[in-house]
Amino acid sequence: MPELPEVEVTCLGLKPLLSLSVKQIVIRNYSLRWPINPKLPQILKKQTLLNLDRRGKYILAKFSDGTLIIHLGMSGRLCIVSDRDLLNKHDHVDIIFKEKNLILRYRDPRRFGSILWTEKDPYSHKLIKNMGVEPLDDKFNTEYLYQKLKNKNQCIKNSIMDSHLVVGVGNIYASESLYYAGIRPYRVSKKITKKKLSILVKSIKDVIRNAIVRGGSTMNDFFDVNGENGYFQNEHKVYGRENQPCYQCKFPINQLRLGQRSSFFCKKCQR
Ligand SMILES: [Zn+2]
Repeated sequence: MPELPEVEVTCLGLKPLLSLSVKQIVIRNYSLRWPINPKLPQILKKQTLLNLDRRGKYILAKFSDGTLIIHLGMSGRLCIVSDRDLLNKHDHVDIIFKEKNLILRYRDPRRFGSILWTEKDPYSHKLIKNMGVEPLDDKFNTEYLYQKLKNKNQCIKNSIMDSHLVVGVGNIYASESLYYAGIRPYRVSKKITKKKLSILVKSIKDVIRNAIVRGGSTMNDFFDVNGENGYFQNEHKVYGRENQPCYQCKFPINQLRLGQRSSFFCKKCQR
């Protein structure tokens, strides 16, 4: 499943399309998670792509008269192709640009993704307005986390995975960040010291930033990039390493289930 870093890398990879204008849209399958607006081909024709932004796992593609809000769901991919590229049966949408023969192609075998059109402020869209802060934004800092957690009895791993608090910290990133911060995943949120929280904030930012940097080098490889088996896996310090020795202390890594999700940690390095 594409996580925040992959979505960020995708968004950066679409920059060559900026300031190009739409010649035609081909929609081969309208039924994504929510149906694509049947008028979209008419609406988007002749509009210019003015800006690309990411909020959580949504890509916001701003055109002259509105914004496409795109989510990759479980298996979605966006890539830039030319008319010489072969069509795959899961290529549901092509946005064909006038210039350079470039096509923005949406592929999604499981069709849990979405492509929505809005002419209003996309940041006040119901899917986006209640999202927590971005992990790499300055607003995600020790004081913010401390204030959010000071009365929370929930375990820390579930807290940092709560997208109303901070977006994009998926299961893998949560396990890895807590390892770097030396905090056991099941610790009660409100009992963690401010000093530890400041290390956790830094760890989350580092883990996400690192995944974005790693993803950048594989951006052009449309066919091999696979969220779950991808480039980030080889880097894991604890995630998926049950019973294997900790890289720091050689003690076997533990696994436990928290809120239906597998959590991995080192009993010696994390307290
Ligand atoms: Zn250890």
